[in-house]
Amino acid sequence: MGIVVQKFGGSSVADADRIRNVARAVIKEKKAGNQVVVVVSAMGKTTDHLMKLASEISSNPNKRELDMLLTTGEQVSIAMLAMALQEEGYKAISMNALQIGIITENVHTKARILDVKTDKLKAKLDEGYIVVAAGFQGVTPDGEITTLGRGGSDTSAVAIAAALKADYCDIYTDVDGVYTADPRIVSSASRLDKVLYSEMLELARVGAKVLHPRSVETAKQFDVKLRVRSSFNHSDTGTMVVGEEYMEIYRPVSGVAADLSQVRISVINVPEAPGTAAALFGKLAENNVSVDMIIQTHAINAETNNIDFTVAKSDLNQALELVAEFKKEFHVEDVLINEDISKVSIVGAGMIDRPGIAATMFRALAQAGINIQMISTSEIKISCVIAKSRSEDAVKALHSAFDLDQNEEIAKVYGI
Ligand code: ADP
Ligand code: ASP
Ligand code: MG
Repeated sequence: MGIVVQKFGGSSVADADRIRNVARAVIKEKKAGNQVVVVVSAMGKTTDHLMKLASEISSNPNKRELDMLLTTGEQVSIAMLAMALQEEGYKAISMNALQIGIITENVHTKARILDVKTDKLKAKLDEGYIVVAAGFQGVTPDGEITTLGRGGSDTSAVAIAAALKADYCDIYTDVDGVYTADPRIVSSASRLDKVLYSEMLELARVGAKVLHPRSVETAKQFDVKLRVRSSFNHSDTGTMVVGEEYMEIYRPVSGVAADLSQVRISVINVPEAPGTAAALFGKLAENNVSVDMIIQTHAINAETNNIDFTVAKSDLNQALELVAEFKKEFHVEDVLINEDISKVSIVGAGMIDRPGIAATMFRALAQAGINIQMISTSEIKISCVIAKSRSEDAVKALHSAFDLDQNEEIAKVYGI
């Protein structure tokens, strides 16, 4: 008998009918003779609504209380799905993070999972129950409720699959797999049958929200067989996330993504002295504010530097408080914010050692009349910050510049 972990996102459990549809997919696995843990997100846009509710009370809500509020969403959906399974005559039990023992670090709104206890899960599975587990939430060793960051239910599912050494972890969602770009933006995007962990991780990090980045990281680390499948067509096998051993030839670019959730902060005229960057970014790091892109430019005729960097919008208020402290301590002239940005990225394991990829990207953006504000690169990714209003144009231009549109002879260059 195998162990299967299934995960269904918000749109898949948006109402009672869809919950019954999810129950059918779960029962299919159970009938195939598997032990099943099913992880669910909050129904529909519940988490967005809860965020809005909090913003009506505070512009910078206390993070502990925010976690307390947001985790209620998943508690509703697990109970609903367990009831739907029971209605079909199956033994099912809902369990939240505290009941399972999904242990996280002591950080609110973006905690990392440290451990998943398996004793209670296994006991229930052995008694024949389908376990319906709350995604997105965790509990610290001291019993505080945490969340894993938006989209984090994917990570809950993979972490549970890793802990149980499950045969596979299926992420069911409202698209039927991973595409070369968000199919809602690029209608000609092609579905990938297979994608490398490394590529998927970069794609997720740069904004392809079909998988939460840490879910891919965890799957890679613990060798979890991870698939992205359609919630509405249970027989389609979707996209499989695989290790390098399953791919022979990589196309230079496998996907294009945009991230509209970042803000650019410019710290103007920072007096030049060793240790200023360390002080600024040290302060941000100590307070758990992750910085993405960084540019430091030297003013030729003055002994000052400008430091530009990007952070997630959700960290903006905290980042600004910290930058204000830095401004005072280091006699900085000014701090500017630009919320009107998008980071567009191309990702592909095949770009390693292949010259000209960056030039093609910059040319495609130039031909579309799109100005590049910041650039960053890694081994298998190139990102450009551009104006938010041009984000979709940029994604489409890059998608066609790298021949990712459907009907390309994908098999010839990609996968096996
Ligand atoms: P869920 O609620 O099931 O977790 P999400 O909204 O988090 O679903 O993720 C699925 C969405 O991800 C899709 O509806 C799609 O618009 C978006 N998406 C972005 N990039 C991609 C991509 N490269 N491939 C597939 N989907 C993508
Ligand atoms: N409900 C949470 C969110 O909307 C977690 C998830 O969907 O994965 O972010
Ligand atoms: Mg999601």
